[in-house]
Amino acid sequence: MIIGSMARPPKPSRVVAKAIEQYKAQELSYKELIKILKQYPDHPIGDLVPDYRRQQQQDIINSGQVPKGAIIANLDKQAPNNSYDCKAYYEDHEFRCEGCSQRFTWTAKEQQRWYESVKGTIYTEIKFCRDCYLNHKSDKKPIQ
Ligand SMILES: [Zn+2]
Repeated sequence: MIIGSMARPPKPSRVVAKAIEQYKAQELSYKELIKILKQYPDHPIGDLVPDYRRQQQQDIINSGQVPKGAIIANLDKQAPNNSYDCKAYYEDHEFRCEGCSQRFTWTAKEQQRWYESVKGTIYTEIKFCRDCYLNHKSDKKPIQ
């Protein structure tokens, strides 16, 4: 990284600016827009992001990809982030604790709480069971 360049966001490319303009004027579909934007992953798209994610979630719901027993996410309650990816729903997730090596389930309900009430980042991966988490707490970051 070059010193002194940190604060400056990448310059929006003309292509991206034009695409966003067309999307807002509804001349471009969401899918076409995403296709263009993905070619410029560094471009900040700010207030457009929630739109994309909402649309993406709708697509996932409509296509019947949501597993039985999953909880549909409330995207507005998730911590703000700049990802194109959408955490559309929560489903029970099995994992092996890195502390005690036992298997646990991170339930959909617990995830909902984590992402929507605690405002955990959508990139969170669970690594420790509750006991190990509490034991490791004085260490460094137990959950990232
Ligand atoms: Zn454990």
